[in-house]
Amino acid sequence: MNTEENFTPVGHNLQNPVDKYPKPPFEKQFQPFPGLAGKMNPVPDHGEESYVGTGRLKGRKALITGGDSGIGRAAAIAYAREGADVVINYLPEEEPDAVEVIELITKAGQKGIPLPGDLRDEEFCNNLIEQAVQHLGGLDILVNNAGHQKTHESITSISTEEFDRTMKTNIYAPFWLIRAALPHLKPGSCIIGLSSVQAYNPSENLYDYALTKAATTNYVKSLAKQLGPKGIRVNGVAPGPVWTALEVSGGQPQDKVVNFGEDSVFGRPGQPAELASTFVQLAVEDASFTTGQIYGVAGGYGNP
Ligand code: NAD
Ligand code: MG
Repeated sequence: MNTEENFTPVGHNLQNPVDKYPKPPFEKQFQPFPGLAGKMNPVPDHGEESYVGTGRLKGRKALITGGDSGIGRAAAIAYAREGADVVINYLPEEEPDAVEVIELITKAGQKGIPLPGDLRDEEFCNNLIEQAVQHLGGLDILVNNAGHQKTHESITSISTEEFDRTMKTNIYAPFWLIRAALPHLKPGSCIIGLSSVQAYNPSENLYDYALTKAATTNYVKSLAKQLGPKGIRVNGVAPGPVWTALEVSGGQPQDKVVNFGEDSVFGRPGQPAELASTFVQLAVEDASFTTGQIYGVAGGYGNP
């Protein structure tokens, strides 16, 4: 016989956030940049088994950069299960992660298109938008999620090349992508940027990365004003510590990986799956009065 419990969809059970997910200490586990989610221990939860869609993004066409792993992958799974077709961009080395995401999108009954390539190249960014528009038959959600983070104990150890990689990936690429996408974005479309708690309370070891996150918060607010009258909403998400490949592939020193997330109020890092619903909420039509906002998902600290 069916009990009420049997009818509770996966992911809708009442759960204690304190012990819902793995806690530090974690194993030391360096991977060369950009790293693979599939090789992490524990493997992050991107909502593969838990995200339940209800058609909130039916018919929408989304491009998510860095959609192979981490936060972008959680957004890609959720968008597909809400009824959107999704293009993901990632670096060619990340193909094993990307293949899994495309499979999940397809399994949700949606179009999943992999378009790998390096966002530090302006021409590639322009082509990415054109190809995404062709494959999807338009574009109405752009998630600028890809990001580069490399820990440096001292500003004196940041080479100009390394500084340039961080700026190109985190600031130039969103600029190039938004500029190329705008002619295709109809009223009702939206843009989502990836800020961080680093924008408000920068760590001593993330000088260059943190400043790009402050810049992202800033572009969200200026573009929201510029594009609001055209009916295009621009918002951002500011995560706290989230268990992703970026952190174990040079984003943090290994001793910080071991204790990663211990200072959140839950004593653990967030998992990408815990951000998915925020990306959905910022993209859905009924969020029509929400623009110029940064939504924090940060385990009890950070701003706003
Ligand atoms: P992740 O490593 O899973 O995702 C980052 C993605 O960026 C990679 O998968 C890669 O595909 C992409 N990328 C990097 N350089 C690229 C390039 N040159 N060309 C194309 N793609 C490139 O890690 P994540 O933590 O999910 O990161 C997603 C976003 O979240 C980033 O913008 C990051 O700054 C932000 N963020 C993460 C945390 C955290 O604790 N993990 C906290 C705050 C903000
Ligand atoms: Mg990746």
